[in-house]
Amino acid sequence: MREAERDYYRKKVPKILDELSKKEYEACFFETAEEAGQFILDQIKAGELVGTGGSVTLREDLGLVEALRNKGNTVFDHWEDEENYEKRIELKRKHREVDVFLSSANAITEEGIIVNLDGGGNRVASTCSGPKRVILVAGLNKLVKTTDDAISRTRNKAAPINAVRKSLKTPCAETGVCIDCDSPSRICAALLILLKKPWDIDAFTVILVNEDLGY
Ligand code: SF4
Repeated sequence: MREAERDYYRKKVPKILDELSKKEYEACFFETAEEAGQFILDQIKAGELVGTGGSVTLREDLGLVEALRNKGNTVFDHWEDEENYEKRIELKRKHREVDVFLSSANAITEEGIIVNLDGGGNRVASTCSGPKRVILVAGLNKLVKTTDDAISRTRNKAAPINAVRKSLKTPCAETGVCIDCDSPSRICAALLILLKKPWDIDAFTVILVNEDLGY
């Protein structure tokens, strides 16, 4: 992200943080992934159980799985053994019982609406109910104007890039455009639009970062 773009986001962020606060999130902003990662590490106490939703941001940009394990936390990460279906499901089911669930977002609107699209559904489930706390982190490349823009971003940007990353043979991986396909490799099934903090989550922190993170 160029400096002018980062400066543009600095001007927009106070209003977005305010919208998120009105929706009962604890909202905060960091200039870098490194700062956001350290903040998240500081929020998670020794011994707390942690689940990680499917997210390139959490793993590659912030390196949180490794950092938390180094700190002594147990982290349930279903990306560890992608080919082992039984193990993946077992790890995903544990996500609903953790102290802290970590997630990113496919899109966040200027009004503070958070949108995620899942194939399996563990991430959308665990950002609604189950974990005591949720910490969600997103680069400002995920910011869009409206909820329609957010849904479009999930299906025409995030999902196609994920399909390419996983070498799936879906129409969106071929063309970059969603056609609401019937592909056996379909990567999306459950769409979650968070209008405000769900009741079942005791504390929900939303962290915006002034960098391009994930996709
Ligand atoms: S419905 Fe099919 S084409 Fe559309 S985003 Fe999902 S996998 Fe891609």
